[in-house]
Amino acid sequence: MTLVDTRTPDPKKFIKGATGDWEIVIGMEVHAQVTSNAKLFSGASTAFGKDPNANVSLVDAAMPGMLPVINEECVRQAIRTGLGLKAQINLKSVFDRKNYFYPDLPQGYQISQFKQPIVGEGEILLDMPGGEQVTVGVERLHLEQDAGKSLHDQHPTMSFVDLNRSGVALMEIVSKPDIRSADEAKAYLTKLRIILRYLGTCDGNMDQGSMRADVNVSVRAPGGAFGTRCEIKNVNSIRFVGQAIEYEARRQIGILEDGGTIDQETRLFDPVKGETRSMRSKEEAHDYRYFPDPDLLPLEFEQAYVDGLAHDLPELPDDKKARFINDYGLSAYDADILVAERASADFFEEVAKGRDAKLSANWVINEFFGRLNKEGHDLSESPLTAAQLGGLVDLVKDGTISGKIAKELFEILWTEGGDPAEIVEARGMRQVTDLGAIEAEVDKIIAANPEKAAQAVEKPGLLGWFVGQVMKATGGKANPKAVNDLLRAKIGIE
Ligand code: ADP
Ligand code: MG
Repeated sequence: MTLVDTRTPDPKKFIKGATGDWEIVIGMEVHAQVTSNAKLFSGASTAFGKDPNANVSLVDAAMPGMLPVINEECVRQAIRTGLGLKAQINLKSVFDRKNYFYPDLPQGYQISQFKQPIVGEGEILLDMPGGEQVTVGVERLHLEQDAGKSLHDQHPTMSFVDLNRSGVALMEIVSKPDIRSADEAKAYLTKLRIILRYLGTCDGNMDQGSMRADVNVSVRAPGGAFGTRCEIKNVNSIRFVGQAIEYEARRQIGILEDGGTIDQETRLFDPVKGETRSMRSKEEAHDYRYFPDPDLLPLEFEQAYVDGLAHDLPELPDDKKARFINDYGLSAYDADILVAERASADFFEEVAKGRDAKLSANWVINEFFGRLNKEGHDLSESPLTAAQLGGLVDLVKDGTISGKIAKELFEILWTEGGDPAEIVEARGMRQVTDLGAIEAEVDKIIAANPEKAAQAVEKPGLLGWFVGQVMKATGGKANPKAVNDLLRAKIGIE
């Protein structure tokens, strides 16, 4: 890869060392498991959590004479992902053998793509907190096989091999070295994961290994020449990526400030200690002896096929966010929260349809998502439907219920279910907008507290106490504005 610096150094991101400021440079290689029922070159299942070696065909076990046959669905998913990353789609690409020995790699090589990947340059847009927009270049995306897994903890003297993952399709998505902080790296992974999930091309489950990141980190004098990088392999959570970068940058700065040099090497992150440690140096690096796999023809398809896939792509998070801001008048902050998952965005739109969008967004984000979070529920496990929440929003909007009563109604809908309007009628939760009734309560409270009322003329802050009393007396059902207006008039507050 030819390294090009696309970023202007930003002092806010510099790390202070003993000798001056340092800038971190990061590039990521993300392995994303393709969502597909079968493996890349065999018909074996990709289902997670099966007994060891339950999902293994003769091809995956590399039995002599077995031939790989490309799974079209994996190709389709890779192209769709490329389109989602606004990337160049290569109508011709080549599968190569990447040769190395490992007990869980029965072929003795991994089928990957080296010089001619299926997807070329693209980009990912990051919206950082504080409003900064960062564009991270994507260098390429290629298809490759996953390896199996060695199990060292099953027997005191033996290791076992599980080939369930062997041959599962991965997309390796390689970024340019455009990332300049741990926060940007986390935002990059988060955004990539969102895009993949929108497209349905990878489930993004990092705890099941469906998405892992190799994080390349170097440091340099701000704006200077790129430094020597270390690659931290297989980091499997977004939080760990951040921790690994912070640690690794500090480690490199320490060495350089002591007059040392950085050895290009592969390192591992230890989440318990919060440290990276050396795995192998450049000298020990493999020479993979790549060559085109003679069992496979070059992969070729027509532009019309790509155009068809482009046409059927779902609306992606950046477009959805822009639409939510423009069409619904939402803040960027609220829009970000709503578009983080396709299902959340759909839920919001169902609630907001034909209703006050901002009010709907408030209820969806604060009460509804807040409650789902608190209970550790996924949206799919919600006891509340968009129609029910929409009904509640209607009742708030037309003044049938007060905000306070709406929270009680939400609780009832959440725990018991039912139709919002019917519940309000059946349980007498309507807001009292009958001014006569409110006035009677106001008069009663003032009459019972003449001294306080006199004080309130001087100290209008006391008004809140009176409002509270009236609300209490009406079971929270009085229209708060009417209560306020009446109290001010009767007590004589300007
Ligand atoms: P290789 O194929 O040898 O692993 P590449 O040049 O393809 O190396 O780069 C791999 C990853 O390392 C890319 O994500 C790239 O952005 C990143 N990278 C390259 N040089 C640097 C550097 N000096 N600092 C940080 N990341 C880098
Ligand atoms: Mg690499």
